[in-house]
Amino acid sequence: MSSAAAHRFDATILREYDIRGILGRTLGEADARALGRAFAIPVLEGGGKRVAVGRDGRLSSPALERELVAGLAESGIDVLRIGLGPTPMLYFASATAGVDGAIMVTGSHNPPDHNGFKIVLRGKSFYGPDIQRLGTIAATGAFRSGAGKVTSAELLDAYVARLLQDYDGKRALTVVWDAGNGATGEALVRLAAKLPGRHVLLNEKIDGTFPAHHPDPTEPETLRQLQATVAAEHADLGIAFDGDGDRIGVVDAKGRILWGDQLMTVLAADLVRTRPGATIIADVKASQVLFDEIARIGGTPLMWRTGHSIIKSKMAETGAPLAGEMSGHIFYADRYYGYDDALYAAVRLLGILGRSSETLASLRDRLPQVVNTPELRFPCADERKFAVVAEVRDRLRQAKAEMADIDGVRVRTKDGWWLLRASNTQAVLVARAEARDQQGLERLKSALVAELGRSGITPPKF
Ligand SMILES: [Zn+2]
Repeated sequence: MSSAAAHRFDATILREYDIRGILGRTLGEADARALGRAFAIPVLEGGGKRVAVGRDGRLSSPALERELVAGLAESGIDVLRIGLGPTPMLYFASATAGVDGAIMVTGSHNPPDHNGFKIVLRGKSFYGPDIQRLGTIAATGAFRSGAGKVTSAELLDAYVARLLQDYDGKRALTVVWDAGNGATGEALVRLAAKLPGRHVLLNEKIDGTFPAHHPDPTEPETLRQLQATVAAEHADLGIAFDGDGDRIGVVDAKGRILWGDQLMTVLAADLVRTRPGATIIADVKASQVLFDEIARIGGTPLMWRTGHSIIKSKMAETGAPLAGEMSGHIFYADRYYGYDDALYAAVRLLGILGRSSETLASLRDRLPQVVNTPELRFPCADERKFAVVAEVRDRLRQAKAEMADIDGVRVRTKDGWWLLRASNTQAVLVARAEARDQQGLERLKSALVAELGRSGITPPKF
């Protein structure tokens, strides 16, 4: 063990699920170097030696990647550089390239001046206290020294071939794709060239300034161009990716958005047909319709905490072949590796639709009709947010309300349900409600507002 220069990360960048900061303000090249040196410790402790590194298309990513690789190598780690591509391609390297860890340089869907890192150790998400420990290692400068080998591999074709291997459609479709100038662009060009059907590509040129729109398919305004093109091309559906390709957005032929839970009902129905009884996981924000549908078709629904790292861990623990989040992270362990890969989810969706006589629009119309709010996010201080949720939970428990409290509180009434949880990544509270009809929804919203009022919080109107 050698004690090289210690390094202090800005306290805001070591987050629950990843490392993320703003260039020149909270994140710089010295942080990437120190991350490489610090991450080498848990890799070496576990008897590991080799780490894969990938990067997205942000303007700051090449420099961060260079320093990260240098930090790993000077700590004695052999580095496999896989270059520019989506985050799931880095996960693919982690699963198949014989490495002990993997780090993606990516700012995901965030603005151009943001960037960060997603980390895997021995095939598992590296998050929570593991990330905090990197801060401790760096602060003490307890690094190791060595001379790791650095090699490069071109993985894009192998990754795209693996995606195509599981395409099982029979009917060719017309699909509009929007890569949002994110890191999926080149993979998408190669994928679409080999899939049957007609494919119209939007914003497939990787450009870290994101000139067309923000690459976040949970924001409805980012899907306008996709919706318009689906209509103009008379396409069967449209598919969008976030900046690093671990989240998907889908619109049907009528231009309607399928939210993460609605998409999951389509994917789950197909999966349970081949794997009766299978456990299917969705996060606490998902519609009751999804959980009820999974049970109705003979699957085993499991509601779990929000967060891609947490969901992946729960899948590994339960052996669930499919999981999904409202945010558009979709995880397949059925025929695949159990990580969130939006391109893979797209291939499976096209297979389902290509084997079905029904359109996506009609599958969507067959779902039980409910009314719900979008996800409402409103500011609440980090020091206060968890306490507010705990107070609400304690009052409801006293009142003997029917609720799940695995992640915030999700309360069921005869009208439907409402959710209140604290974000793990931002100083915000998150709320959502869903009912069978509008009057029921108003009652749920009133109950939620009243509960927040008892803790001195006035949410914005929703
Ligand atoms: Zn992402």
